[in-house]
Amino acid sequence: MPQPGERRGDPVPRFFVDPDLVQGGTVLLTGQAAQHIAVLRLRPGDPVTLCTGDGFDHACTLTSLGGGQAALTVDRTQPNQTEPRLQVTIFMAYAKADKLEHVIQKATELGAAAIVAFPSARCVSRPDGKSLPKKLERWQAIARSAAEQSGRGLIPQICTASSYEKALESAAKSELALFFYENERQIHLSGLFEARCPDTISILTGPEGGFSPEEALQAQAAGLRSCSLGARILRCETAPLCALAAVMYAAGEL
Ligand code: SAH
Repeated sequence: MPQPGERRGDPVPRFFVDPDLVQGGTVLLTGQAAQHIAVLRLRPGDPVTLCTGDGFDHACTLTSLGGGQAALTVDRTQPNQTEPRLQVTIFMAYAKADKLEHVIQKATELGAAAIVAFPSARCVSRPDGKSLPKKLERWQAIARSAAEQSGRGLIPQICTASSYEKALESAAKSELALFFYENERQIHLSGLFEARCPDTISILTGPEGGFSPEEALQAQAAGLRSCSLGARILRCETAPLCALAAVMYAAGEL
């Protein structure tokens, strides 16, 4: 039980920075990180955690702030303790922008290692090649801020697969690759975790219009295991989050 006044979670502001910046006992931040510290109205003497995404967190104290720069001293470096052992990659069919962004934010909080968006037959929306780089930048920024807020030890990588086939090929590389199919009636998640919990899992979910029967066959042929999320039909932004929470629970991570 947490003691009165003790807060679970990290009340200390947390920023991801390049590992090269945290060499030796002092750190000088410029650009966005320094700006962010100023926006939070932090003052010299305040604690800040710098996370280098390489498995380490650095407990620091802000020593000065001004002129677009923030100087900190590193008080302690310790292994990050919030990353799940289970590496889950979410493969989510393109959905309307706000839904994908919602999943990126929530899946980051729930501990996803990476999120891959892919096109499929019944997608109602997908970005064109021209707008994609800007979108990826925005999605990665959403993941970064969710990772900072939730105390993650790394920022999940957000990327895209150029085709449904490529998404299947990549998903199939995990120890357990799950194809969540709204028409699956027999196989449930509980049955798949009776043996040893795998180290890597892929979760693949469809768009607003669901998967076509051909796509279900393709997934099976690629080595993915069809799986149900229960008797109710979940929205395309609910399904990956439900599956992620369920596998994290099964792995003892919740
Ligand atoms: N429009 C479709 C549902 C699409 S739901 C229909 O009405 O049938 C979007 C995606 O969420 C699906 O493709 C699937 O990947 C996942 N999903 C939703 N409910 C599910 C369930 N009960 N079992 C497995 N997957 C589900």
